Amino acid sequence: MLNPQENALADKIRRLKRESGTHSPSIYTLLSEIHDLKIKIDACFLSNPFATDLFMKYFTKDLIETQEIRKVLEFYPSQNQSLASTLSPLLNVPSENIFLGNGATEIIQALLHRFAKKKMLINLPTFSPYYEFARPDVEVLFNTLSKHQDFRLDKSPFLDLIRQHRPDTVVIINPNNPDGGYIPKSMLNSLLGELTAVDNVIVDESFVHFAYEEGSDALISNHDLFMRFPNVSLVKSMSKDFGIAGIRAGYAVMAKEKVKELLKNGYLWNISGLAEYFFRLFIKDEFQKSYEPLRLRHIRATKDFFKLLNAIPEIKVYPSKSNFFLMEVINGQTSDDVALELLLRHGIYTRSCNDKKGLEGQFIRVASRSEEENAAIIHALKEVLQTVKV
Ligand SMILES: *Cc1c(COP(=O)(O)O)cnc(C)c1O
Repeated sequence: MLNPQENALADKIRRLKRESGTHSPSIYTLLSEIHDLKIKIDACFLSNPFATDLFMKYFTKDLIETQEIRKVLEFYPSQNQSLASTLSPLLNVPSENIFLGNGATEIIQALLHRFAKKKMLINLPTFSPYYEFARPDVEVLFNTLSKHQDFRLDKSPFLDLIRQHRPDTVVIINPNNPDGGYIPKSMLNSLLGELTAVDNVIVDESFVHFAYEEGSDALISNHDLFMRFPNVSLVKSMSKDFGIAGIRAGYAVMAKEKVKELLKNGYLWNISGLAEYFFRLFIKDEFQKSYEPLRLRHIRATKDFFKLLNAIPEIKVYPSKSNFFLMEVINGQTSDDVALELLLRHGIYTRSCNDKKGLEGQFIRVASRSEEENAAIIHALKEVLQTVKV
């Protein structure tokens, strides 16, 4: 239970939460509005902190120490298609098939507004822009994943829904947000093989760098699936795996007719100078080589975090192949109270999921951070969860 002083702060946080709709208020908003709040660990945002450190190192050396930052700020960045040809060799995809976005969110918005015609199908729970950005004349159908099946996508009811309703657009987030459920590559391949009659299949692989297949942690790439199924648009945010949400960078791979259509609508300089700097760094061999061990380190830290979370009896932790976990509070406390106590008493920011469509129960999503931060989250969780007697 919160004390009166904590309750006053909790009210302010609840107000900011309401004002930010289905998303969490940013750390920046929280700290600027609530001066008494001390956030030590942001386990709400889902990023690889080691990758942010790496980016900072390059950014400081390349742009700050040399004062090259001035050019980034002073001049126009490159155009969308010119950056697409820069990315083309690394992605091993022709540049006509690449579209860059001011974050993946902009791409999602563009795809939905331009290509979703009458009906779209989305799995629940989901990343909310997928249904929020649907045009008002587009009917949104939901396929609700069950917690009793660990939020696994069950192929036959999903395909039955598609046969019955014939949506022109289907969204698959892999690994899914907020549960981290993952469809292995071979299964995704056969699933896409059954969706060839759907006009647009959006596969959002924003978290794919955190995923792994049975017996191997090698980086998964699905660009070949796109080559096999031209109705598929692969969407990829750079915010989470590279820990750079602030600079807004994402790309998508899709049919060249679709890229053309979108470019007719604009998007000329939608990639900022900073995002261009990132993409030019991203394609460098040296950067890729220093990123890979950090990606693997974060996967290891996340696997260890799961073991510790899973040993806490007051919560049920769902399996995830991403860098976060959905946990269900099962000791009688509400997810809101647990999240608020974590924040106000321990400075740990997590995502209470009581407003997430399609989630029944007391759920909190917690991000995996560095090894030390994960240990601090475990310690705080145990303290918060053990204060109640049911
Ligand atoms: C965060 C997120 C995005 C959007 O990321 P951007 O920051 O806009 O690049 C897209 N899809 C999913 C599933 C996400 O979780």
